[in-house]
Amino acid sequence: MNKFEALGFSNAIVKAVTELGFESPTPIQEKVIPALLKGDTDLVALAQTGTGKTAAFGLPLTHLLDFTSRDTQAVIICPTRELCMQITRDLQSYTKYIDGANIVAVYGGASIDNQSRDIKKGAQIVVATPGRLNDMIDRRRVNLSNVRYAVLDEADEMLNMGFKEDLDTILSQTPEEKNTWLFSAVPELKLRKLQTN
Ligand code: AMP
Repeated sequence: MNKFEALGFSNAIVKAVTELGFESPTPIQEKVIPALLKGDTDLVALAQTGTGKTAAFGLPLTHLLDFTSRDTQAVIICPTRELCMQITRDLQSYTKYIDGANIVAVYGGASIDNQSRDIKKGAQIVVATPGRLNDMIDRRRVNLSNVRYAVLDEADEMLNMGFKEDLDTILSQTPEEKNTWLFSAVPELKLRKLQTN
């Protein structure tokens, strides 16, 4: 049995990860996935790039969301355009066999109209950089009122880059009772110091 099947993932997800060559979870996935699959929890995780952190939050998300609905139920915020595109590609590959799954990348330096059109089709997951997402919120091109999961990836980098205000504005558009999953390469204490800078 593929170890992802034993974790409780559906056939569609197991088939997709098997094709990607994932046979067993990485250490961070082993720790994080069972906790997130329970559905109702906040999380702070210490993880560097290359540890498999995208799948650590991405696979539980694909399991927990309702892809028969067109509402935006999850927002993933990350510091750079490259990471945004990479996360989007990864999530698209995990959901390859799930009908109706629509994952849209939102980042600066590309057409806001095209991104808005993709969201309008019904994006269950929006993967975004903070500045462009804020711009979209201002122009009412994205509705975050049904978000149940907010993922902050490379949160330390986002704070370092001065995105604190953008993040606050974005999160204020999401329901209070959502789950927040925060991934950072530095520990929480240091993160708090960054926040007050
Ligand atoms: P990340 O830390 O999310 O950037 O992932 C680093 C690399 O590890 C990516 O190329 C993933 O496709 C790969 N990867 C993630 N999880 C697994 C796994 N369980 N087994 C094998 N490769 C994986």
